[in-house]
Amino acid sequence: MNPILVLYLYLISIIFFILSLRFMSEVKTSRYGNWAAVTGMIIAVITTLLAYEIHQVSYLILAVLIGAIVGTPIALKVPTTAIPQRTAMSHAFGSLAVALVGASEFLNDRTSIIVSNDYFTTAVLCGEMVLGFLTFTGSTMAFSKLQGILPGKPFIYPGRIIVSLANLGIAVALSVYLVLNPSQTIVLALIALFALLFGVLLVLAIGGADMPTVIAILNSFAGMSAAALGFVLDNKILIVAGSLDGSSGLVLAIIMSKAMNRSFINILFGGVGRGVKGKGTTLTESRIVQGYAPEDIATILSSARKVVFAPGYGLAVSQAQHVVRELADILESDGVDVKYAIHPVAGRMPGHMNVLLAEADVPYDQLYEMERINPLFPETDVVIVVGANDVTNPAARTKKDSPLYGMPVLEVDKAKTVVYIKRSTGPGFSGVDNELFYLPNTMMVFGDAKKVLTSLIESMKNQ
Ligand code: NDP
Repeated sequence: MNPILVLYLYLISIIFFILSLRFMSEVKTSRYGNWAAVTGMIIAVITTLLAYEIHQVSYLILAVLIGAIVGTPIALKVPTTAIPQRTAMSHAFGSLAVALVGASEFLNDRTSIIVSNDYFTTAVLCGEMVLGFLTFTGSTMAFSKLQGILPGKPFIYPGRIIVSLANLGIAVALSVYLVLNPSQTIVLALIALFALLFGVLLVLAIGGADMPTVIAILNSFAGMSAAALGFVLDNKILIVAGSLDGSSGLVLAIIMSKAMNRSFINILFGGVGRGVKGKGTTLTESRIVQGYAPEDIATILSSARKVVFAPGYGLAVSQAQHVVRELADILESDGVDVKYAIHPVAGRMPGHMNVLLAEADVPYDQLYEMERINPLFPETDVVIVVGANDVTNPAARTKKDSPLYGMPVLEVDKAKTVVYIKRSTGPGFSGVDNELFYLPNTMMVFGDAKKVLTSLIESMKNQ
């Protein structure tokens, strides 16, 4: 194919990728974002196939078939609560592919690298292989933690940070050695080994609650490694798509860590989530909490004028978004002002609540982000917390020894009445007890969110 035409087609697919990111930044347009990404990728793949001479078409067809057979059921069946671990697996395989292509590229071209003293190409290849291999094992560990195959608690042992960083240091030192001595191909295997080990050790020492952020960071590594490979292969689309992936993953990780008021260093090396019993923070406080029935809540709601729903991870688990919407409709038909409080890290991925509520056709203008809703809580009659916990925990504002301290939270406790719908007084993802359950203006309703809300709707209809 004409190289100029190839460049133009790559440019078109890059425009689709950029449009995709733009569309995905708003719930209203996110579906278009998906289609734009698919279109961009189809153009990129077809162009690449036509631009290069393919020797073994049958291998390609076989790979596409295997990918489709494995990927289609996963895409159709995975629940939204499991999207983070599914994403982790995509990164794992993507980065492994990049690392292996890099390794084969080095082995194929090493004679010309040695002859031409091409330090730059070897250095870039080493960098992308280190990133690729560590992302592969890191993402596999993240998947295993989120899927419950490995314990979610961080694996903490004395000197773990030094051991982890030493592995990375050795991989980097070996890379420098290989750049200077490209004929020593055995070093390539050692680089891969230490990078793989670093991925395991790094993620093993991070708590399950931080996995979504870790996945975004690994996403960024996978993108950077693909971009580096693009330089080696002189493939423009790989450079741009890798850079977009790398930078968007990094921006996402920054947004998530800001919303939790945490630094990357704290997330990667802080060992948060090991259930430390601090002065004011325990996993095992045993205090009596009175449970209320849905009928009691129906009575309270009958006199409420302003109601705010504060959804969290439990909404996703019980798939209660449609009953929440049904209850909101009933309240609105009685003239009640209804709003939804959206915390940036409620659930298990950014935008999780927006996606669920959009599925139930909740009007966008009723969704209030944390900064907008917090000043409105003091004038709210009832806040109904549906399966949220950490994102409402006042310990984040008041208890300096709490792992949550400093994370901006929904100040639901300032409302006249807080109704908590969850199955127990158990902690959320961070493992931190929630003082709110014990406050006098809090009414706990124990049970699965969907079942409780369905009974609540029945009670309201019978009033
Ligand atoms: P939490 O994990 O704090 O709490 C969710 C609560 O839902 C649990 O306490 C659980 O209580 C309850 N629950 C579970 N299943 C059900 C059910 N079927 N019906 C009713 N309730 C249920 O979630 P939040 O959304 O409040 O906070 C998100 C957490 O995830 C934060 O710690 C955040 O930092 C972390 N995180 C989020 C990321 C994101 O991008 N969204 C990224 C990284 C981390 P019980 O078992 O008693 O029912």
